[in-house]
Amino acid sequence: NNNKRKPLVAGNWKMNGNRSLVTAFNDAFENNAVDNVDVVICPPALYLSAFSTQAFALGGQDVSHLDNGAHTGDLSADMLCELGCKYAIVGHSERRDDHGESNSLVAEKAKKSIASGLTPIICVGESLDIRESGQVESFIGEQLDALVNGLTVEELSKSVLAYEPVWAIGTGKTASPEQAQDVHEFIRGYFAKVDAELAQGLRILYGGSVKADNAKTLFAQQDVDGGLIGGASLKTEDFISICQAA
Ligand code: PGA
Repeated sequence: NNNKRKPLVAGNWKMNGNRSLVTAFNDAFENNAVDNVDVVICPPALYLSAFSTQAFALGGQDVSHLDNGAHTGDLSADMLCELGCKYAIVGHSERRDDHGESNSLVAEKAKKSIASGLTPIICVGESLDIRESGQVESFIGEQLDALVNGLTVEELSKSVLAYEPVWAIGTGKTASPEQAQDVHEFIRGYFAKVDAELAQGLRILYGGSVKADNAKTLFAQQDVDGGLIGGASLKTEDFISICQAA
């Protein structure tokens, strides 16, 4: 696309990978610089400290909305920062489904991330039912309402959005470039009603079965500023070619 927003490509390893995959990424990126794209890897948090390369940034896959304290199993934004993270994914549909995360909790997590100096990558997106019943914009509109209610314009301007249609995640059914662009344009238009400058600068990533062979046409859409990559972020070659497509 032809705007001034710097593309961002983030790999979400989910509950995958191991030490040898970390080593493979350390090595592969030392030998393949990706210029003019912000590249982020979000591994399981246990592996964060095993990364040694400066060639990409690190992110958490989730973050608590709470301060350090008696919250068994949770990870705080401050902890992610201490381990070198610059980003945290919040509100991924798998977190919303597996852990019952609500729109307002997702907003709280984003707010907490920003307060600690992390850039939240805030995920929104509809299920197949919602799409087939023609309610995509009202559904995503509600997800965005919670963000606008919970975060200031300044906080929103420090955030990244990711549109991830749930029916496209891990299914091999990518949204068509037109379907992606339509929703990205809706999201940018939504924020334009809040603040024009915010909307203009906001990076909106597409996620859902992005692969090396479809990344370029998706990223070429006017309002698509990069991607959030699951399965294809687990292979160095695939992920590097997706980064190069941005
Ligand atoms: P996928 O996952 O690329 O495997 O579809 C995307 C995501 O869940 O972020």
